Formats: sequence, structure tokens, C-alpha cells
Amino acid sequence: MEIDGRRRSNNLILDTALRDFYGAADEMHLDEGLIQTLSYPERRVDVSVPVEMDDGTIKVFHGHRVQHSTALGPSKGGIRYAMDVTGQECEGLAMLMTWKCSLAGIPYGGGKGGICCDPTHMSRKEKERMSRTFGARIAPIIGRWSDVPAPDMYTGGQEMVWIMDTICKMLGHFEPAMLTGKPIDYWGAKGRTEATGRGLAACAFELMRMKGLDPAKMKAAVQGFGNVGSYAAKIMNEAGVKIVAISDTTGTYYNPNGINIDKAFEYMNTNPGQRGRKLEGFEKEGCEKLGLDDVLFVDCDFLCPCALQGTINQDTAGKIKAKYIVEGANSPTTPEAEDILNDSGVIVVPDFLANAGGVIGSYFEWAQNLQGFPWTEEDYNNRLVALMKDNFCRVWDYAQNKKVTMRRSAYIAAIKRVADIVELRGVYL
Ligand code: NAD
Repeated sequence: MEIDGRRRSNNLILDTALRDFYGAADEMHLDEGLIQTLSYPERRVDVSVPVEMDDGTIKVFHGHRVQHSTALGPSKGGIRYAMDVTGQECEGLAMLMTWKCSLAGIPYGGGKGGICCDPTHMSRKEKERMSRTFGARIAPIIGRWSDVPAPDMYTGGQEMVWIMDTICKMLGHFEPAMLTGKPIDYWGAKGRTEATGRGLAACAFELMRMKGLDPAKMKAAVQGFGNVGSYAAKIMNEAGVKIVAISDTTGTYYNPNGINIDKAFEYMNTNPGQRGRKLEGFEKEGCEKLGLDDVLFVDCDFLCPCALQGTINQDTAGKIKAKYIVEGANSPTTPEAEDILNDSGVIVVPDFLANAGGVIGSYFEWAQNLQGFPWTEEDYNNRLVALMKDNFCRVWDYAQNKKVTMRRSAYIAAIKRVADIVELRGVYL
């Protein structure tokens, strides 16, 4: 739908992405034609995914792959399996990927995809059949120089291998650079597992440096103790930051004297709880158990939302005590919440800057696959942190000079790079 000539959506993620984009584009006085062009994805493919379930019945799932922009290079973005996946959600996330890749200074456009399903109630064989059929149906638009998927929520190396194997068989040749997030021993990259958390921690450290804060005197809370949150907590903790609260779907685990993060890792690895519930019972390791959202409200300096979109919203923003928020999840802060935070002087490091470690890491994997030559983990980590720091400083400096928020500054830098190339290449891409 359109309101006053501007595209809007009932989907929270797409609507937030559009509103942020329009706000920045207007401030930049971007040409109206370019604004219209970039409001829509270049391509969206919706596919049906019929799957033979283990009981012999056929169930039809709905899958999507969106390429928001290929102006800077092949579109890049994850494939997620979740019940709330829709074409519009993928459009919003693909747009965010365009800005994220642009801001990160890597040669990619933005893409996203997924299947609406509940992977927690599917067997391994059902997931394999679903992944392979989905892969076959989006195959015409996937490739190392066209669209390079990666894992996202509830997908990982296994799903990537099923999809890649299916497309390679269709092509009749091997092509490891067509997607990233592959297992390390199978054309993956050492360092990728920790990359997003490491990048997030690098942003937090740069922010501390800019503000003259000593990491050893800082307290942080991390919402979501999955891939992003757990490694961000671990790396910050290793630098002396006291992690006072962590959470997962089972609730918040709080210790004002600091949680032993190594113990939390050990606990997760031994706890057989189903995915997303791995901290269940962790209170017995010296923590107080609080409610699901309480992780947002504990007394701390840094808050890292690393779970879901929209957790920092109108209802929760006013109760946050942290002065700095570093966003690990995509779109964890709604625009209304951001206004509340800005009014109370909270600095928010936006998602597409702070969680770009994952896509930068994917770029490193792709580059290694194209070279056919693996890097060392040390090379990977050093290059990642160097890029994250550069990107943070660029956004920070512009925000300070122009007296705008970091999100606005990041949007402007990211949109400018894409808009310049769209103008250079022309709109008939
Ligand atoms: P994950 O599935 O590994 O972990 C998610 C964690 O969040 C789990 O611990 C889960 O229990 C917890 N969680 C879910 N709902 C919650 C709630 N309501 N309250 C508290 N905790 C809750 O996922 P991930 O890979 O860590 O991704 C987390 C977020 O970061 C997602 O928004 C994802 O899109 C984004 N992201 C991930 C990457 C990456 O490389 N993994 C990169 C960029 C962005």
C-alpha cells in the first residue's frame, strides 16, 4: 500500500525498513525517482514447496527469495525457516541487507529468503526434502555472481549443504561459492561461527573507546544466548566486561556480580534442552531467574538485544537503564522505541552496522571459495575486526559532525553508496 506516495506495509519489519529508508533519503535530498526505485525489491520469487512428510501425506509450504538490490554486486542474505516468514518480511530484511552490505564496504547487494514452517516439529528427513525442493525451485536465481544465500534463523550448515548439493546436481558441476555458512570442513570458513558476535563486540569496544570508558568497569546484559548473543557475551567478557544478565526463551538469568560466561557455554553444551531453551535451569549456577523481558531492564551500561525483532518497543523502551544499546538482532528496536531512547540520551548502534560481522564473514568465505584457498582463522578474525572498526568510526564521525543518530548516519552512508552506483549504472539494471 502507499500513503502520500510512499510505500507502507502491515508487516513490521518491512514497514520499519521503509520508514527508516525514507527518513534518511529525505534528509539526503535523494532524487524521488531513486527513492521510488529503492523502495521496491528488484526481484521477488515466491515458490510452493510440496514435501512428503514422514507419515506419507504431502504438505505444501510457502517459500520466498527476494533480491532487493544487485547494484553493488550479487545479492547476499540468509534463508530462514520460521512460522512468521512471509514475502513482505523477506522484502524488509532484504532491504536491510542492501544497506548492511553497502555500509560494510563489501561488494554485495541485499537479499533474503525463507520458508514459512515450524522446523522444530519436523524430522531431519522432512527438513532435507523441504530444503532440497526449495533449493531446486529458487535455483534459477541463485549463483556465485547473482545471489548468494546463507543460514539465518533455524537454518545452518546442514541446510546450506542440502540446498547447494541439489543446485550443483542440477547444474552438473560443483560451485561452492553459490552460498555461504557451509560447515568448516566442507568449504566453510574458520571464524564464521563467532563472526557476528565478534563484530558486535568490536562495535561495543569502539563505542567504549570513543566515550573514554574502560571495558573492565562496564556491565552488560545480553538478550538471546544463541549464536550472536553467546559469542558477543563471551568476547566482551574476555575483555573484562561484566555480563550481569543473559536470556533465552526460558527467561532471564541475572547475577549483579557477573555471570560466569564460560560456565554458561559449558551448561548449554551439556543441556539437552531443545533449541532456544538451552539455559533452562541455569539459575542453579548462581543466578537469579527473572522474567523473559527483564533482561532489558536490569542495571547495566550496555544492552545487546540478540534475539528477535521488535523486543525494544513502546512498552519496553522507557524501562531500559542501559546508556548504550548495540543491536545484534535485526530490527530489535521499533521507531517509536528509538524516539523514546533518543529523548533519554541512549546511544543505539544500529543492527546493520553492529551485526554486519556475519555478512562480512560470509564475504570472506565466498572470497576463499572463489580463490580455492583457505585463510587462517587469525587472518579472518583480524580482517573482520579491522573492517568493523573502520565502519563504526565512519558512522560515528558522521553522526557526531551532523548531530544525527548513529542509525541515521549509517543509513545515509549506506544509501549514498548504493544510490551513487544506481545512478552510475542507470536504472535499467
Ligand atoms: P539463534 O537461534 O542462534 O539464537 C536466538 C536466541 O534468542 C536463542 O537463545 C533463543 O532462545 C533466544 N530468544 C528467542 N526469543 C526470545 C525472547 N523472546 N526472549 C529472549 N530470548 C529469546 O539465532 P542467532 O543466529 O543468534 O540470531 C539472533 C538474531 O540475530 C536474529 O534476529 C538474526 O536474524 C540476527 N542475526 C544473526 C546473524 C548470525 O550470523 N547468526 C547475523 C546477523 C543478524
